[in-house]
Amino acid sequence: MRILLVEDDDDIADDVVRALSASGCLVERASDGDQAWFLGDTEDFAAVVLDLGLPRLDGISVLKRWRASGRTMPVLILSARSAWTEKVDGIDAGADDYLAKPFEIGELVARVRALVRRASGHASSVLTFGRLTLDTTRMSVAVDGTPHKVSPLEYRLLDYLAHQPGRTVSAGELAEHLHGAEGVSDANAVEALVARLRRKIGRDLIETRRGFGYILSES
Ligand code: CA
Repeated sequence: MRILLVEDDDDIADDVVRALSASGCLVERASDGDQAWFLGDTEDFAAVVLDLGLPRLDGISVLKRWRASGRTMPVLILSARSAWTEKVDGIDAGADDYLAKPFEIGELVARVRALVRRASGHASSVLTFGRLTLDTTRMSVAVDGTPHKVSPLEYRLLDYLAHQPGRTVSAGELAEHLHGAEGVSDANAVEALVARLRRKIGRDLIETRRGFGYILSES
């Protein structure tokens, strides 16, 4: 799950990156409005955490530009001021949620996960695909109710597929969401990861659609 964090304060950014990474997300950070607008406009993110007071271009303008160019990813706004007018401006500009600073880091993580979940049509934090169950709060995996130990990268792969129900995901897209745009975008590495995961949780749970990619089995 790739998350864009837009925050110019290094201390806050470090805390948020640490907490979201610990919950299984791949976080990329922008520290000014221009960079944020460009990244959000050209790359795919499962959700965005957007500070409002930013150098170069303010958060509300960044959000308005994304929405004007048809970018629909869920956005949670962070603001130093808890003025209700600012909250209304944010929501009018296309924000999905709002959190005033200072905030509890656990609440931010829970809200981001809820946004991602709702955007993919899931109502609960426990996702079920046939025999496979993913508990996104505990980051645990079970098959037929039996827990299976998987690595953080393997979990991220399952988590990403689980948030794309009914859609076949290409190896390239998976690589981008697992490693980021600057990481290894190698389809062979994804293939090896899927093979390893299948040995752990069972062959049939991740289906391969030849030439298209991967999808979680619903049966
Ligand atoms: Ca700021």
